Amino acid sequence: MEMSPEPVGETVPEPSVRPTSDETAVPLPVPLPAPMPGEPPVGLRVARVPVSGMYVALTFDDGPSPATTPQALEILRRNGAHGTFFVTGANASRHQALLARMAAEGHEIGVHSWTHAQLTRCSAAKVDHEIADTAEVICRATGQAPKLMRPPYGATNAALNKRMMADYGLRTILWDVDTLDWRHPGVQRVIDTAVGKARPGSIILVHDIHASTIAALEGIVQGLQARGFKLVTVSQLIALSRSGAEPPATSPAALPAAEPAAPEQLLPPAESSGAASIGAPPAVAAPTGVGEAELTGAAEGGAGIRGEQKAD
Ligand SMILES: [Zn+2]
Repeated sequence: MEMSPEPVGETVPEPSVRPTSDETAVPLPVPLPAPMPGEPPVGLRVARVPVSGMYVALTFDDGPSPATTPQALEILRRNGAHGTFFVTGANASRHQALLARMAAEGHEIGVHSWTHAQLTRCSAAKVDHEIADTAEVICRATGQAPKLMRPPYGATNAALNKRMMADYGLRTILWDVDTLDWRHPGVQRVIDTAVGKARPGSIILVHDIHASTIAALEGIVQGLQARGFKLVTVSQLIALSRSGAEPPATSPAALPAAEPAAPEQLLPPAESSGAASIGAPPAVAAPTGVGEAELTGAAEGGAGIRGEQKAD
């Protein structure tokens, strides 16, 4: 089945050295375990991570905002939860103290472009500005280079995913649970979606720039915790990944809707496709990391920039 290692030809160091899932699935590593050099435990594009334990990652896009992000940080802090903030360079450059605080409080910060541009429509030079300059702001504010990026609107493609890693060392992170909070569907609705749709390894999308999202946040965090989930950063989730043995994208059976081509926001993410990954056998450290093996991916709710939605 999806076990065939399917060497994808990138630099994948000796898989035999990889720890088995038993080692990776132990207690939550608070400081991130050292990444295995050059070896992505999962693919270049991730929408959900196959983990054995009850872990999810809550991700916040489009900030930081001095009006709402501090409240989000406070809620996370008092509930012992960690999140991942995909910031725009435009906002981050103006609120670097917020980035420093995020990092100091154990959250992860990723790149969300500078201007919230749809990267699939940008020239190479424009992409370079959107990504490199934002990464530099993060680096300057926190002393740490980001490892993750989230493309605005979820608009990406295989070439971009590859370039993000090759040129910037950034893994492309999508999501499998979309709260659609940017539509302000009501606090309880946002809570119910985030809590109800989460599965082990889920990456949940919210936006920390909306007051209504902040109003829902404690309910989301506590609801997830009541279900037994631990809220970790995306990199921690990836580190907890079961041996990295995701099914290769080339296996037709495992093929989900590969790219988030032009999924309308209305569509729920293709939940079913997750099964393939979640069922991946834990024991084998197959060097499949560099494929496009991931699961679902939906379009993102960017702040107010809805209309021009996608088409890769
Ligand atoms: Zn966005």
